[in-house]
Amino acid sequence: MTSVDTMTSGGPGASGGPGVSGGPGVSGGPSVSGMIFDIKRYAIHDGPGIRTAVFLKGCPLKCWWCHNPEGQGSQPQLLFRANRCKAFKACIDACPRGAIRWENGSLTDWETCDQCGKCAAACYPGARELVGRCLSVAELMREIERDVPFYDQSGGGVTFSGGEPMFQCEFLRESLYACKERGIHTIVDTSGHAAWGGFESILPLVDLFLYDLKLMDDTKHLKYTSVSNRLILDNLRKLSSTGAHIIVRIPLIPGVNDDRENIEHSANFLSKLPSLDGVELMPYHEIGVAKYASIGKKYRLESNRMPTREEIEAAEAIIAGFHLPVINHQPGRTK
Ligand code: SF4
Ligand code: SF4
Repeated sequence: MTSVDTMTSGGPGASGGPGVSGGPGVSGGPSVSGMIFDIKRYAIHDGPGIRTAVFLKGCPLKCWWCHNPEGQGSQPQLLFRANRCKAFKACIDACPRGAIRWENGSLTDWETCDQCGKCAAACYPGARELVGRCLSVAELMREIERDVPFYDQSGGGVTFSGGEPMFQCEFLRESLYACKERGIHTIVDTSGHAAWGGFESILPLVDLFLYDLKLMDDTKHLKYTSVSNRLILDNLRKLSSTGAHIIVRIPLIPGVNDDRENIEHSANFLSKLPSLDGVELMPYHEIGVAKYASIGKKYRLESNRMPTREEIEAAEAIIAGFHLPVINHQPGRTK
């Protein structure tokens, strides 16, 4: 199966895609391929122990504060880091579309660029890079298996993140299945915006869900993420009723969702769920902002700031007031 087929099958609104009904290991097995934009080894902030964080491409949301904008699109994405450019100008000749010009440095016309990656292949210093590679489950597992000794020592495992990992549901499911076959602890870090059938199909293969809850007001949710929150809230209710282990993570973004009304509304909703392992606030930070210019996109929260310690503690106190287990945030998360 091509990566495009794989991604389409698991996308939002799909009934689960090919292979869901057949269950893990039945439909495609280790030959199923997916599009990955990063693999971070020795991650210590993405769940218990030392972990390998695997970042899958494609996301149905477009959050204004997203730290991984290069992970939103489902296809490989050209990234240009001006600080690495050594002015060799090989990119200009390499581009078949004439999308690169020189004006005190290499400039890309992002409207004309079709992300073919030829400039990246010609760029010796690596200033231009095509982010996103297609891997089979078997290839991914070869990378993951190198880290097994660290999992064994630390109680770690693999965290699947993105983008939205459920966007490539079949690839995710087969990768999870391969991890469980090897006794590896698994986490899925999700926005919750995916067909319920996809969640059902991975349930027995996931040790812990990290589940984002961004905004309770649907109009604001639509404005800041480009999608309604209805499916996300519905899936969270259903997931919780299965007894799955879930930590809900709320990004705390001044001026967007840090008002008392939203925090109370969120905590009230969460307090009614049948089961929940914890709630963690994820204070807004500016890591990732520079990536926007490097992929030709505009960052829309330009004038924002990090919440203060007092603001974080005040929000945590509101959540704790609803008798929810609050997990103190550890700085350094990758998403
Ligand atoms: S990725 Fe874009 S800028 Fe680079 S060679 Fe292809 S069309 Fe030109
Ligand atoms: S859900 Fe996550 S990956 Fe998707 S746009 Fe929002 S922050 Fe980015």
